[in-house]
Amino acid sequence: MVSPVTSAFPRSHVVDAFGRPLQNLRLSVTDRCNLRCSYCMPESNYAWLPRAELLNFAEICRLAANFSRVGASRIRLTGGEPLLRQDLADLIAMLVTRAKPTDLALTTNGVLLADQARSLRNAGLKRLTVSLDTLQPERFQAITRRDKLGQVFAGIDAARAVGFDELKIDTVVVRGQNDDELAALLNYARDIGAELRFIEYMDVGGATQWTPQAVVSRAEIIERLAGDYGSVRPLGGRGSAPAERFELPDGTVFGIIASATTPFCDRCDRSRLTADGTWYQCLYATAGLDLRAHLRAGRSDADLAELIADTWSMRTARGAEERTQMEHRGVFVPVSALRRQPHLEMHTRGG
Ligand code: SAM
Ligand code: SF4
Repeated sequence: MVSPVTSAFPRSHVVDAFGRPLQNLRLSVTDRCNLRCSYCMPESNYAWLPRAELLNFAEICRLAANFSRVGASRIRLTGGEPLLRQDLADLIAMLVTRAKPTDLALTTNGVLLADQARSLRNAGLKRLTVSLDTLQPERFQAITRRDKLGQVFAGIDAARAVGFDELKIDTVVVRGQNDDELAALLNYARDIGAELRFIEYMDVGGATQWTPQAVVSRAEIIERLAGDYGSVRPLGGRGSAPAERFELPDGTVFGIIASATTPFCDRCDRSRLTADGTWYQCLYATAGLDLRAHLRAGRSDADLAELIADTWSMRTARGAEERTQMEHRGVFVPVSALRRQPHLEMHTRGG
């Protein structure tokens, strides 16, 4: 049973060494995936987290509640592919009642969404983001090594039908792979009432085929869309959100997440908890805090909240900025190291 938030623990919205608040928590519920996207899981073999080491639902809720006590009350469920986690809707319902997040969202590849959209909604999920890089079935197969685009479209349709109005579509833009589809994807998102965000291809752990040349920068995306639509107007008011938002002359709004060329480290308030309870305060961090060990050692809620707050207060990470300052920027983590340390993978720590 999670203890209620009391004045016994007065700290809220702890800030790090640079004054950045602890706010957005990305909870990875599995490192497994049913796709093999070229920019995330391009290898033929992977080292997986042992199933016995994954947090159970009660443990996830207990950690989430304690994160919330010190400010991280905005939760996004991710993975791997989160819909592969058995009984995910039950976890959502438990999180809603025990951690009481101020925002609860989920990022999915959409493959299993048609079957689960209604139960996710009924469980209390508020917002949904579906990753979609192409509208072309053959290209989808080439990018993901799976023939499942029809399932993704069916999932998006089901999500809209059950009332996920704030639907977002995330598209990783990779040169020579899907950069000729920017306008087509924008038009598709506009037609279904979703907001599209273009994501620059990042040199995260797992992106073992990354090259600087494959990145289509924020500047280039804007230039190309201005060529297609006439003008692209920045909307401003971004706050700590990763996406910068823009408007086209017809009123269509879209976002760009430019972490590869124009990082937002100075405002980054997000951290990541892996499915086995390791907490990372930066996407590029090479070491994390094993919260599962503390949980299973019998630490109290007050102790856990204090540990989270103390760790965050010492945070100095600016990983994406440091990458942009490198003279020779290449693959972040070589495959041999990923085999030894699956925690360094994007699909393990959650995108
Ligand atoms: N499987 C789910 C999905 O694809 O939506 C959730 C996990 S996935 C790791 C979360 C997000 O990370 C996705 O939107 C994906 O496109 C993004 N991502 C993965 N690798 C990336 C990379 N190298 N650069 C930029 N975004 C990446
Ligand atoms: Fe693709 Fe998401 Fe799976 Fe990575 S975790 S391979 S981005 S579907």
